[in-house]
Amino acid sequence: MDGEIFYGSAAELERLLDSGELTSQELTEAVIARTKLVDKKLNAFIHFDEEKTMREAIASDRRRKSGRKMSALDGIPIGIKDLIAERGQPMTCGSKILSGYVSPYDATVVERMRESGCVLWGRLNMDEFAMGSSNENSHFGNVANPWDISRVPGGSSGGSAAAVAAGEAILALGSDTGGSVRQPAAFCGIVGLKPSYGAVSRYGLVAFASSLDQVGQFGRTVADVASLFQIISGHDERDSSSYPFEKRDYGAELSNHSRVKRIGIPKECFGDGLDEEIRRAIEAAIDFYGSGGHEIVEVSLPTIEYAIPVYYVIATAEASANLARFDGIRYGYRSAAAQNAIDIYFKTRGEGFGAEVKRRIMLGTYVLSSENFESCYLRAQKVRTMIRGDFMRVFTDVDAMITPVTPSAAFKIGEKIADPMRMYLSDIYTISVNLAGACGLSLPCGFSKTGLPIGMQIIGRPFHEHEILALANEFELAHDFRGMHPDI
Ligand code: GLN
Repeated sequence: MDGEIFYGSAAELERLLDSGELTSQELTEAVIARTKLVDKKLNAFIHFDEEKTMREAIASDRRRKSGRKMSALDGIPIGIKDLIAERGQPMTCGSKILSGYVSPYDATVVERMRESGCVLWGRLNMDEFAMGSSNENSHFGNVANPWDISRVPGGSSGGSAAAVAAGEAILALGSDTGGSVRQPAAFCGIVGLKPSYGAVSRYGLVAFASSLDQVGQFGRTVADVASLFQIISGHDERDSSSYPFEKRDYGAELSNHSRVKRIGIPKECFGDGLDEEIRRAIEAAIDFYGSGGHEIVEVSLPTIEYAIPVYYVIATAEASANLARFDGIRYGYRSAAAQNAIDIYFKTRGEGFGAEVKRRIMLGTYVLSSENFESCYLRAQKVRTMIRGDFMRVFTDVDAMITPVTPSAAFKIGEKIADPMRMYLSDIYTISVNLAGACGLSLPCGFSKTGLPIGMQIIGRPFHEHEILALANEFELAHDFRGMHPDI
């Protein structure tokens, strides 16, 4: 392998581990040392348990030696966004209100990673309760973008994306409700997959907006992301929204890109507000696919102009209900100033939640109130059905769609935090995919003049992850972006 071991892909590292040239202990030590070196600048981790992690690495080496390797990712250190439960580890969701909380159980995705021998490495920083697009809403401080530390890494899974981009983890888990895996992946120059709604269990994922949330995967290559998706996806009886779809061999199907015949380009995603550099990079990628034998057709998604308002009604409504459980009674932070039972609720929530979370709880409560329920919430649900209808109609004609991930490359820390409406527009191209329940991924496709990564989004039919992964793999193999790392 060329270069630093912490920048190795999981596939390369697996070969080294199998041949005995490398041990998981050495690999994990390298990742931990790298984290200690660069995380002072990045702040991607909220917590890590070095001893526990090293025990898992040593156990992996022992297994491998005795011929009991459990999966392609056995012995590979993988970071976890701090809203996915790992037994015995703290879980804060980036919020003060969960300070002191330790998970008593594993999320299904964590359980599956454990059964596959993955080394569970560190709790990654995030916007509080996954609300945000810049990782500036964390109680534990903002995360910096490894390509330029004066810029945001994206959010809400900013810690996950920054960690993988900077070699502080080989892979990471995040969550995506409206773009929180794809947008930070684009800002940090790595691959991020948001699976179809129902493809990955949400059991043990702290809910933000339950009808939109999915656990997503970050990696430096498409093949690595496919390996992790292979392990964590699939039906789970403990999550009633998980769907018993037919799982594929995602690694083996990576070379099957020719089955994706027609690619749709939604014209609404290339209008005003899109940065010229991004437009050029995406158009070049579209040309690549066109000359590679795919048929490129213009398509229309007329209702996606309503995606942001619809999302902010539905997501806040669901959040206001989901976040009602954080009350200082059962777990986490409790205000020391409380004098009586009612006081505990008010003071704990008043002190424990940050500004953005409070804004969303208030908005969600408003749209669910009896006066506004019909005009806001029900109407948003109807428009959501229309957006989904638009996607399904287009998918009768094309196999996949390509759009930008974000209107611009990573913005400066502080640039949008005072203007929530501008911040919300960061997800304009990603949010509709969650509303439709489709799958989408973000793939590096260029750099801006100032050296910031640019991502493109490939959207697929629900449960057709194998197709978008194959398309992404085709592009990745023909370009050099996977070998480029930030100078940090
Ligand atoms: N940025 C969007 C929001 O703030 C999406 C977040 C997410 O996907 N978790 O809600």
